[in-house]
Amino acid sequence: MVVTDRVLMGPGPCNPYPEATAGLTRPMLGHLDPEFLALLDETCENLRTVWGTANALTLPVSGTGSAGMEAAFVNTVGPGDVVVVGVNGLFGERMCDVAGRCGAEVVRVDAPWGQPLDPEAVLSAHPAPKVIALVHAETSTGVRNDVAAVAAGKGDALVLADCVTSLGGIPVAIDDWDVDLAYSGTQKCLGVSPGLAPFTLGPRAWERRIPTPQSWYLDLGMIGAYTSGTARKYHHTAPIAMITSLHAALGALLDEGLQGSWDRHAECGAALQDGLEKLGFELWAAAGYRLPQLTTVLVPDGVDDAAVRRALLTRYGIEIGGGVGPWAGKVWRIGCMGHTARLRNVTLLLAALSETLSR
Ligand SMILES: *Cc1c(COP(=O)(O)O)cnc(C)c1O
Repeated sequence: MVVTDRVLMGPGPCNPYPEATAGLTRPMLGHLDPEFLALLDETCENLRTVWGTANALTLPVSGTGSAGMEAAFVNTVGPGDVVVVGVNGLFGERMCDVAGRCGAEVVRVDAPWGQPLDPEAVLSAHPAPKVIALVHAETSTGVRNDVAAVAAGKGDALVLADCVTSLGGIPVAIDDWDVDLAYSGTQKCLGVSPGLAPFTLGPRAWERRIPTPQSWYLDLGMIGAYTSGTARKYHHTAPIAMITSLHAALGALLDEGLQGSWDRHAECGAALQDGLEKLGFELWAAAGYRLPQLTTVLVPDGVDDAAVRRALLTRYGIEIGGGVGPWAGKVWRIGCMGHTARLRNVTLLLAALSETLSR
């Protein structure tokens, strides 16, 4: 097998932190070994810090980011419940699909792809929804949605936020913003391989949860017991290597400091967006709502999307992402997440892109 190094500048996965990779190769512990249980407790505690929450139910769900999405909906939404979903990209669409399968009455609030949601429109879409759901960082478009503004006006509703691409890369403050439940994924700005969904759920959502969710595996009552200190009960075999890897990456992240990580992502995003504009590219996401960790540009007229991305990959070992849904072939999505968010990668990509386009 040929092992090839890549600079992973797509929408995910990013390059894992070296600490995360080292975590994967530690000797295996049993899933009930006291040393592993201590490591799991510390992982949950560090996740609380990263989420900005005191929520007891904060843990890594076994599965990718979408498992976090599924867990969020099946534990709070049952047949006939009204769920308002803000949709301005692929992951908002996916939320509608998941909520619909729970039997929800889904009330969509759309904004054009590339534009942010209007918090007022989301809040006035229904007089009494059970849940208001939105994506904080839309990876399909590079747009940030204002979760804090929606949570501030939620009234009696629960606010459910997708933070897969935001956590670790831009500020997320679950308790300060009063978000009721949220999930993330390990392969975006947390700098770990794909495979876990960091999750948090607060007391309001706990009180109003579905007592017996249709999913056995994602029933948070049972998963919570599996991660909770002395009351711990076997639920499923923890993905030990992944949790060890996440534990190591969270250690690296907290050593740098959350603010340090946010600043580094901001600096790389600004350098990339500035550099792309200097090369003549038009940024796609609305100004003022651009994610530093995921930059989107329009593919210039006459440029072959697939050929350029192939050349970047084969000549320079750099992966960038194409557009999805209605924007396939029309935009590029360039990630600067986790360990990939380094100025050296920005400079390399800008040079490689300009060289590729001038050939
Ligand atoms: C990547 C992503 C997901 C899905 O995560 P998977 O790990 O691919 O299952 C969900 N929401 C957003 C915003 C994402 O970027």
